[in-house]
Amino acid sequence: MHWWHGRFALPECVRHVLLLDLDNTLVERDVAFARWLVDLLARRGMDAASAQGVRIMEDIAARDDHARNDRDEFCRHVASRHPDIATSPQALWRELSRLPDFLEPAPAVREMLQRLSRKWSLRVVSNGSGDIQRRKMMKTGLDGLFDGIWISGEQGMEKPDLEIFRGALGGDDPRTAVMVGDDPIRDIRPARALGIATVHVEPSHRDLQPLPNAKIRNILQLEEILA
Ligand SMILES: [Mg+2]
Repeated sequence: MHWWHGRFALPECVRHVLLLDLDNTLVERDVAFARWLVDLLARRGMDAASAQGVRIMEDIAARDDHARNDRDEFCRHVASRHPDIATSPQALWRELSRLPDFLEPAPAVREMLQRLSRKWSLRVVSNGSGDIQRRKMMKTGLDGLFDGIWISGEQGMEKPDLEIFRGALGGDDPRTAVMVGDDPIRDIRPARALGIATVHVEPSHRDLQPLPNAKIRNILQLEEILA
């Protein structure tokens, strides 16, 4: 990743700002979602490995779209198409609030963030419910590491709205900041619009417009490219 060079050749005294997405960036949200869904099907008497189970899982995962689809719409869709899974959108939302329970602790991510926090002001910028996103941080052991946490459900605005990024920057210069996220539309594009450098966490390394400054396959590679 040598094409990262030079961009942040700032004096040591300047504390840089690291804006971090949560879902599928710091925490393996899609892995937890799949586990949650298998558990939900099992509690409805369905085998996730059966042909019917696979079909239902695929349909629900497609509608979820890595948590990028509107949650109300997602819950309405699933409740109407799969009433045997959820009797109402509200019932599905209650089930979905258990999702943090299906995340695993991420000690290596925590240790990396602790090291990065010596040079960087770490701030979370995440779309989702405040309660659920905060429980995800607790469950993975990533709580207590951040100088600020901006969650759309608590802020009344969500990515890609530039205002949530401006809020997270506070008075800091966007040119001293880096945004790290997995979503081209909600993380990379708005950050670039504000002049914030970007790191795209993208396991498959697909093409992306607008191009981020750097791509990594796994969050644990972040330290290497920021060094
Ligand atoms: Mg994300």
